[in-house]
Amino acid sequence: MAIRCTLVNCTCECFQPGKINLRTCDHCKHGWVAHALDKLSTQHLYHPTQVEIVQSNVVFDISSLMLYGTQAVPVRLKILLDRLFSVLKQEEVLHILHGLGWTLRDYVRGYILQVGSMPPKTFT
Ligand SMILES: [Zn+2]
Ligand SMILES: [Zn+2]
Repeated sequence: MAIRCTLVNCTCECFQPGKINLRTCDHCKHGWVAHALDKLSTQHLYHPTQVEIVQSNVVFDISSLMLYGTQAVPVRLKILLDRLFSVLKQEEVLHILHGLGWTLRDYVRGYILQVGSMPPKTFT
């Protein structure tokens, strides 16, 4: 997936996880969230009146934007994720969380208590 940078005047076309800091783009040196916003806006998540069928792979993409390489979820993003997860089956939610290095407990808490191994790289 190509995630453009949303900062004005930035021509970066695709987020590239940094070698030192996963959440900093190697192309343009801007942060992950600046890029993630591009993806979010294309998913119409901020138009709750449009009922959409949420598919688990779409939820995975969005979740990865928020959870991948981080150890805490900002509250506003967590509310969004909770809404997305509420339409999925529990197994699907667990699968997504585990794929991103999170357990359900950590997710419910909002941050990872014990920093273990980093999640597998999902960007190619
Ligand atoms: Zn940028
Ligand atoms: Zn970038």
